[in-house]
Amino acid sequence: MTATALPVASGQGQWALGERAPLNHNEQFKQDDGPLEVRKRIEQTYSRLGFASITSDDLRGRFRWFGLYTQRRPGIDGGRTAVLEPHELEDEHFMLRIRIDGGRLDADQLRAIAEVSTQYARDTADLTDRQNVQLHWVHIEDVPAIWRTLEAVGLSTTEACGDCPRVVVGSPVAGISPDELVDPSPAIDEITRRFVGDPDLANLPRKWKTSISWLPDVPYLTNDIAMIGAVHPEHGPGFDLWVGGGLSTNPMLARRLGVWVPLADVPDVWLAVTRLFRDYGYRRLRHRARLKFLLADWGVARFREVLETEYLGRRLVDGPAAQTAPRMIDHMGVHRQRDGRWYVGATPIAGRVSGTALAAVARLAQRHGSGRVRTTVDQKLLILDVEEADVAPLTAALAAIGLQVAPSTWRRDILACTGIEFCKLAIVETKARAAELVAELERHPSLAAAEISISLSGCPNACARTQVADIGLKGQLVRDASGALVEGFQIHLGGSAGLAAGATAGFGRKVRGLKVTAAELPAYVRRVAAAYLDQRHHDE
Ligand code: SF4
Repeated sequence: MTATALPVASGQGQWALGERAPLNHNEQFKQDDGPLEVRKRIEQTYSRLGFASITSDDLRGRFRWFGLYTQRRPGIDGGRTAVLEPHELEDEHFMLRIRIDGGRLDADQLRAIAEVSTQYARDTADLTDRQNVQLHWVHIEDVPAIWRTLEAVGLSTTEACGDCPRVVVGSPVAGISPDELVDPSPAIDEITRRFVGDPDLANLPRKWKTSISWLPDVPYLTNDIAMIGAVHPEHGPGFDLWVGGGLSTNPMLARRLGVWVPLADVPDVWLAVTRLFRDYGYRRLRHRARLKFLLADWGVARFREVLETEYLGRRLVDGPAAQTAPRMIDHMGVHRQRDGRWYVGATPIAGRVSGTALAAVARLAQRHGSGRVRTTVDQKLLILDVEEADVAPLTAALAAIGLQVAPSTWRRDILACTGIEFCKLAIVETKARAAELVAELERHPSLAAAEISISLSGCPNACARTQVADIGLKGQLVRDASGALVEGFQIHLGGSAGLAAGATAGFGRKVRGLKVTAAELPAYVRRVAAAYLDQRHHDE
């Protein structure tokens, strides 16, 4: 029996089964007009006629393919998120996401982002946990000029959001780490050059998240497709292929396909998996349209069979046994490069920087390094190629703009999503709360030894990887002692993406009924840290 002859549930909107009729509004607008077509309308019509001229399907649908989301109207509390219509929740400004594949920037690119931020985005800038930079307060009238500024230095917002291949996450120390056997940057470059903006891949069932890294310094188990370094006993160094990871409201970790992919084949294998998803992915229900649901129904063996027979036309090499993941590295501090120079990792709090700060980083990267900068999946920045004598002055200069090279463990291990400040789906504040929490916890240095990671997400969508943090905080309204509904969090405890030393991959346990109000949060974290330090086993 061939793979395609196996029984499948029909009626899920799978193109490979001939189910082309759109089954929901998103599928309809994607089929009515290719999402990439909206760029012309932005340049020729919307930027000239203004916000009111934008059609609903472009505004809340196709704009995402160019990194544009409408921004939450200020002053709307989280209790009204679920009851207001989209047009009541948004104002006439946009969030703009700039994709930074592999987290790689040079000084000119960083300066261009800073210029856009200060000129068009009220000096806002957030480092996201997928190595992008996100700006706020953008007007539609300015978008063509913003694109010109970014594209002049090789940056893009194309497919930074939407149901398409989003930024390719990669190790921020690719090409410089002494521990790396293969630098996958050429494969990342080829994928972005060939396929980002390709209309053939611009209508996938849902977003498509990729990571490609030799080192396990990206959370690869939570991507739709991930390739991570592996040494084959006969063929040498290459990549282990994982598929079907994703968090959000129904989290699943990626599963290993059991194949080994040489560097030269990475783009074509990536393309084959992506096309499989495009054709077989479920399109009926948005919340079941990620690859993880197809993989859960098919299983790994069938997935591999279809991939090889229908999309690659050849067998893949069986991979070596899964290799134990060493400790997740966030690259903070000062580290030796393979060429003898140093890279310096520095962190703001939960990714919040500014255009002014990024311009300063560009200057510092040129003065003390080669100008190369990297963004990380932990909302941090690295400055590469620093001579030893430059490390101390660079470290001091970074501290002066709020980027700490030797942060407290709390500052180092906290992530926060956009939250209610700008996100239309949010229920609670996140970034400011993360800053308050860090400030409060840093007043208790004895607790820092707990090395607890904290993740704050403003709603159940878990954009800050709630389920794989030691303390995952999912924003919701909770009742305080007086019975009033206030901002608070559902607690998840003990999550791991399998990247901590000796850890097994797994999600934090949602502790039934365990919710805290935002006001109680610092005291709660202090209690968890104290109890952990008191009761942990000596090797934990
Ligand atoms: Fe917005 Fe929710 Fe994602 Fe936070 S987790 S960025 S609030 S959708």
